Amino acid sequence: MSEFNSSAIEEFKDVWVFCEQRDGKLMPTDFELISKGRDLANELGVDLCGILLGDDVDGIAKELGGYGADKVYVCNHPLLKVYTTDGYAKVICDVIRDLKPEAFLIGATNIGRDLGPRCAARLHTGLCADCTHLDIDMGNYREFLKEASTLPAERIDKLDTAVVLGQKHDVSRDLKMTRPAFGGHLMASIICPRFRPCMATVRPGVMKKNAFDQAKADACEIVHPAFTLSESDFETEVTEVVKAAKKLVDLIGADYIVSVGRGISKDVEGGIKLAEELAAELGGVVGGSRATIDSGWLSADHQVGQTGKTVHPKVYIALGISGAIQHKAGMQDSECIIAVNKNDTAPIFEIADYGICGDLFKVTPLLTEAIRAAKASK
Ligand SMILES: Cc1cc2nc3c(=O)[nH]c(=O)nc-3n(C[C@H](O)[C@H](O)[C@H](O)COP(=O)(O)OP(=O)(O)OC[C@H]3O[C@@H](n4cnc5c(N)ncnc54)[C@H](O)[C@@H]3O)c2cc1C
Repeated sequence: MSEFNSSAIEEFKDVWVFCEQRDGKLMPTDFELISKGRDLANELGVDLCGILLGDDVDGIAKELGGYGADKVYVCNHPLLKVYTTDGYAKVICDVIRDLKPEAFLIGATNIGRDLGPRCAARLHTGLCADCTHLDIDMGNYREFLKEASTLPAERIDKLDTAVVLGQKHDVSRDLKMTRPAFGGHLMASIICPRFRPCMATVRPGVMKKNAFDQAKADACEIVHPAFTLSESDFETEVTEVVKAAKKLVDLIGADYIVSVGRGISKDVEGGIKLAEELAAELGGVVGGSRATIDSGWLSADHQVGQTGKTVHPKVYIALGISGAIQHKAGMQDSECIIAVNKNDTAPIFEIADYGICGDLFKVTPLLTEAIRAAKASK
């Protein structure tokens, strides 16, 4: 294994994505991050590589190529069959020390949030958690800031350098990692100028997945890097994996989401039933604002927003949701937004493609009926 010094940044190359699998199945976040990683690798002019750990998982690796990976490092070992912090962190750090990627992206899933900081600390590098936007190219980053920030244009134009330890530092090859801060009231862009790999965990659902390309999947190279792993590397032992009995709602994968807010408060059961009926007619699922989760009306897996899920379905219907900034952060990239609210000044109408000012208890059954009739007439 070659010597590893995280501050020798010129020795690091390529963009890597941690590809999480559970029970031999790749997670949707893998495809989102591979797609985003492809853009970043193109901007840097380097390869995009996935790193996939498990036991006998070669068979699923090539699929990652279909979304943009040039290469997948596959680490197979019986002790990697089930995720453990000890096993995964040991192997990933071994491989990173050897092959030295420049940037390393991890989905901010439960596993990613556990794994990322552990690896960053062992490698002595920086990690920006829970990112919602990533850039390398300064032109793209400036465009993003012009659209999404209140920074004056003359400040944005002068962002090519940062002062690091009293010295001017050129940020053009740094990963610009943007994440919400102070309860979503501001967005912070963070760089890791002195150490590599530059690490980011990325919120599931925020990056758009590329279209799958079979030819690229076929061309994707599978590599088995060297690593060592034995029982002595483990401080903990997994004796049993107990899965939650309840099936969680799949908001991130849904094409149609009907979300309810505090506007259902006068008849919570009735409001949820109306949303379920509308969602069923559309072949979608029910979501909710944080107000409905905090009130115990819906379970936490239904929450859309900054501290819930980020979604971009084909159609997002907001019933009795005011459109607070933290809610909008999780759904404003939906392809089509339909809002029903009895207050015509509700902020949700500012981002809605179609706004219906009215009582959701009257409007929702009409929407369901109209969709049913339209389907029947086909
Ligand atoms: C750090 C932080 C993180 C947060 N994260 C999230 C998050 O992830 N997701 C999230 O959603 N929120 C989040 N919040 C909370 C957020 O600020 C709002 O409080 C919340 O989104 C409000 O939910 P709501 O729109 O359902 O309720 P309200 O703001 O109370 O709005 C209810 C709306 O219903 C309308 N209404 C009432 N009755 C009817 C009716 N019969 N028909 C039609 N319309 C009706 C009202 O006009 C009103 O606009 C967060 C807050 C903080 C501080």
